[in-house]
Amino acid sequence: MDLFDIEKLNTYKNSGKSFCDMARRIRINPLIADYYEHLGCDYEDMLVTRGINTTDFYTKCHKRAERILECGRRVTTTQWKESKVHHVTSVQLCADKFCGNCQKQFANRREHRYTPLLQVLNEKYDLYHIALTVPNCTGFFLSETVGNILKAFGKMMKFFLCRKKIRGLPFEGLGCRGAIRSLEITMNESMSTYHPHLHCIFVFRKGIELDKYKVFTNSFSYSRGRKVQQFSAFEVLVQKLWRLCYDGDKVTKTAIENLEEGYSCIVNYADGNFHQIFKYAVAGLLAEKKKAMRKDGNVQKGLSYTEFKDLYFALENRRALQGYGCFYGLKLDEAELDGDDVADEEIRSIINSLNGVEEGNFTTEKLRDVIENIVVKKHVYFSDKDIKSNLDSLAGDDT
Ligand SMILES: [Zn+2]
Repeated sequence: MDLFDIEKLNTYKNSGKSFCDMARRIRINPLIADYYEHLGCDYEDMLVTRGINTTDFYTKCHKRAERILECGRRVTTTQWKESKVHHVTSVQLCADKFCGNCQKQFANRREHRYTPLLQVLNEKYDLYHIALTVPNCTGFFLSETVGNILKAFGKMMKFFLCRKKIRGLPFEGLGCRGAIRSLEITMNESMSTYHPHLHCIFVFRKGIELDKYKVFTNSFSYSRGRKVQQFSAFEVLVQKLWRLCYDGDKVTKTAIENLEEGYSCIVNYADGNFHQIFKYAVAGLLAEKKKAMRKDGNVQKGLSYTEFKDLYFALENRRALQGYGCFYGLKLDEAELDGDDVADEEIRSIINSLNGVEEGNFTTEKLRDVIENIVVKKHVYFSDKDIKSNLDSLAGDDT
């Protein structure tokens, strides 16, 4: 290999840290796999129909268990033994909702892909972060509550996009072009209730200053008896509108005026920060659970089977992310990582010069071995940009 190729190789090199972080993220997967098997047994008579295919729930759960158990554990490579160089051609992923490894990669890809779009919009419009909440619920009502939240949001968007009008309340003035909504479920550990809520990005006309001035006080202003925030007139309006939509009441100007208090809603100028909406639905919750598990090394402190079941039925067949108006139709909720299989020209030239030294062999390596090869034996692993950026994105915390 000439120096030029070695230099190029360095730009495509995979860090040992990314593989270590992957190993750390999949540590909880055997537990989730057990839960899937358990779930399949609990509902073994249930049938699942998708399109023209009907399978039994037990088989579906069993397959998921197998997939999540295998996630990230095998890496296919071409290996040049003497040169101690490996070209990573694929990493087997499971794409499961409860896999921190896959979900972290999806979240990063979404952020990477859609942030530039939001930045362009930010030049012509004002983008706001809006968080919408409903009262906490128990596990028994979680699935129903999540369903109602998503339905209520669709209903509320009709008013924002002026597809439905409220007499005496001209929403046209907001110049709303669209929104992205992202579902998140967290837990109130002390009361063992769930806190499903939405993080949204709204696009409004420029200069509208909806978060000013925060001068109104209501019960959402207090946290543990202390006054922590006040709200703008727009926030109070959305709180009430949101409540009417969620409770299924008729939305009129009088109904809004007569409502003493809505459900919590916070509006803030996004100021170029869009990270929150690209996260996955249970990112924060799983991170918290893992922290608790690490603290005293007790798996039981992690996600319990009952919690897993509640979340499974709340999230199954639901779009955690959805675009409205100008964002309608964006593929935000993708479950697949579509690899770029056209090899880079530079990668090809690296492979050619490696083949000039010795012949490469196709192998499947265990993640454990990959880490040992990089960290202890100082082998070089490299990959195409696509795989590299996915692996690089695994570094850092879980949220
Ligand atoms: Zn996975």
